[in-house]
Amino acid sequence: MPLRFAPDYLRGRLAQRMLLVFVVTSVAPVLVFGLFSYWRLFQDAGAMHAREIHRVSHTASLTFLTELQEADAQLESFSSANVHPHEIEGVFSAIRVLPYGKTLPQILAANGVSRSQLAAVNAGHTAIIWSHGTYGHPHLLMFRLIPGRKEVIRARLDAAGMLQKISGPHERGVLALVDLSNPNFLIGPSANAVTPSLLSALSSATRTPSGSFSWTAHGTHWTGSIWELFLPGTFSAPPVGLMIAEPRSLAAGLHGLRWMIPLSLFGAVAFAVFVAIRQLQRYLGPLAVLAAATRRLTETHEHTIVHIDTGDELAALGTDFNRMAEELLHRARYDGLTGLVNREFFRQSLASRLANPSSQTTVLLYIDLDGFKKINDSAGHETGDAVLTAVAVRLRACAEGTALVARLGGDEFVAALSGPDAARKADSLATCIQHALQSPFGIKGCERGISASIGITESPGDGVSVDVLLKNADIAMYEAKKAGRNRFARFVPEMFARRQEELALETQLQGAIARDELYVVYQPITDGEQLSGLEALLRWRQAGGNEVGPDVFIPLAETTDLIIDFGQWVLRRACSDFSSWSADGIAPNYISVNVSPRQLVAANFLSMIDTELAIAGISPSKLQVEITESAVVEGKHVEQVLGALHSRGVRIALDDFGTGYSSLSELHHLTFDVIKIDKSFVMDLPDSRIAMQIVRTIISMGHGLGKDVLAEGVETEGQRLVLHRLGCDSMQGYLIGRPVNVDAVRKILRMQLIPRSENISHALNSR
Ligand code: C2E
Ligand code: MG
Ligand code: MG
Repeated sequence: MPLRFAPDYLRGRLAQRMLLVFVVTSVAPVLVFGLFSYWRLFQDAGAMHAREIHRVSHTASLTFLTELQEADAQLESFSSANVHPHEIEGVFSAIRVLPYGKTLPQILAANGVSRSQLAAVNAGHTAIIWSHGTYGHPHLLMFRLIPGRKEVIRARLDAAGMLQKISGPHERGVLALVDLSNPNFLIGPSANAVTPSLLSALSSATRTPSGSFSWTAHGTHWTGSIWELFLPGTFSAPPVGLMIAEPRSLAAGLHGLRWMIPLSLFGAVAFAVFVAIRQLQRYLGPLAVLAAATRRLTETHEHTIVHIDTGDELAALGTDFNRMAEELLHRARYDGLTGLVNREFFRQSLASRLANPSSQTTVLLYIDLDGFKKINDSAGHETGDAVLTAVAVRLRACAEGTALVARLGGDEFVAALSGPDAARKADSLATCIQHALQSPFGIKGCERGISASIGITESPGDGVSVDVLLKNADIAMYEAKKAGRNRFARFVPEMFARRQEELALETQLQGAIARDELYVVYQPITDGEQLSGLEALLRWRQAGGNEVGPDVFIPLAETTDLIIDFGQWVLRRACSDFSSWSADGIAPNYISVNVSPRQLVAANFLSMIDTELAIAGISPSKLQVEITESAVVEGKHVEQVLGALHSRGVRIALDDFGTGYSSLSELHHLTFDVIKIDKSFVMDLPDSRIAMQIVRTIISMGHGLGKDVLAEGVETEGQRLVLHRLGCDSMQGYLIGRPVNVDAVRKILRMQLIPRSENISHALNSR
């Protein structure tokens, strides 16, 4: 199923981290820089505004001074010429001529003219004073002597008009003349509101006659500047300053910027965040898709494909993911070596087949190759792999169109088929498989074909779940193996019960050594008339006294590593018994111990033999190991182990000879000393001609190879005589003596009896 962008990936940790990094690295610096610039801009703008006002007030003060001088010149011309007052009233709002008499000083003093100023007027200078006028509005009065007419001219200066001329109408600003000795005296060009805050700002500003000052009133920041006119230098006058002040918001149109800058900062940040989120979407969206697809692939093993069409590396990653998913899915479902379906996928397919109510009978075939381990061990794993691959090809050919074939692992395969005539088809499939595998492979190390044991079970008759069917088929296959391999067996419920018993027995067997339930019996071996050796045979008596036969528990132990422990236990017991017989001077020539194939290939086999011999203190030449024919064809390693045993002086006997498939000629390169003819041949002597012929051949070939020949299972005098005549070197069997326990053996050895069964029974009876 194709996966598309999931909407909630922005909530993921990665997204949050990337957003944080973005904000820290880009948005935060922009904000900090922007706010700092904003603050700086207003600082600088404020400073510029203050400088500008200062400059303007300077110019205005010079202009005002010049105007004042011109007004003074007009007063002078008034005094010198006969000019009528109304001719000069443009500069003055009122002119009066005061007679120069005795009362003049009092009149001038009443007007606020000081003594020094009176003296200055008398000397012909112009005096300027502040006056409050009729309505308390401050204004400037100029006094000047008219020399020829003995009169003093008193002119009220139209300072407000003069100021207006200088600066034009001021709507928001304040332009005023300030009495620097008393800042409450102000003359403005218009009816500007003079706020108390301005007055208090002025009072602190006038302590330094010229300069800038600022104050805040009703949330408005004001910036002002005062320049002193230096009237005392030209007139007899108090110090007067010219003041200009403006609200700071008027400065250079910065009022708009106050909002513009934060707005554009906000806009820039919002845009940057928008771009960041879009980019995160671009990257994290596909990543989220890939993560979800990966999770799904690993959790469900289902076919998963992603669609990423960003056209960049992520799209390439998506393509690679799809390829990888395809490959993983293939690996998860198919066996890497044979290309067949693997165990897991087979189980899934079988489960869905069983869950489908419409499908009728389903038959399962459990196929196990016979003797594959030998191929692997003797010819190497490469040959083994080649054989498995060839087997898979043949299985697939047989199952084509009818069954699903899978490799469960190792040399185990399985096939499933469904349909109304599945049971019939399963039989022909099993036959086809057996025939197909028999034809030669032509692989180096395995030219011949191979046989297989097949277990067959069916659903719903034998079970309805995958596990049950696989188990049943496995049990049936095991029965086919036990029945002699290269055959197929159908599952019947009794098989299950048998297997359960076997498994229960196996569990009990595991604790047999610990519970001291094992013991050893010895069976005599003679060469001619003498007891030459004893074969140690393992026995198991369960706690309740129940004896379990070695034909039952030995094969069971041989399917696990238990046989390794058992083998060592028997060897130790046999060596210890032999050593005590030696101490008593009654020991036979040798003790013979059975060794199973698993023991031979165990890593520490040789050191185990050395140790046990050393513990018991007996010479290797006193030990004979019996190895079944099947074990000696296990490969190179076994050959080396046998060589090492032989070089130590340990005798090697090929047990049950004739029951395997190997011929003597195939064994000539092997190291061994004794051939033990299997009792199945001896049993038919002397009547069967074929048995006679086989035994004769084995004895002559054995002697030809320089080996001793021992016949086992000698039960009758007739058999003994024939074997004797054929030149058999030694014999073992009920005729000579049955296996007996260690106490009985001791008696036999003590009496140094000729080991005939009747003698042995006599010895035992006379205990
Ligand atoms: P095997 O090594 O061929 O031992 C000889 C078997 O033949 C013994 O059977 C013995 O009791 C039986 N036998 C001896 N004489 C006669 C006779 O005259 N007639 C008949 N019918 N049978 C005779 P057992 O003790 O039941 O052992 C069976 C097999 O179990 C042994 O065959 C051997 O392969 C295996 N086995 C016994 N003990 C051990 C052991 O300690 N280790 C291993 N690996 N295998 C053992
Ligand atoms: Mg034996
Ligand atoms: Mg035997």
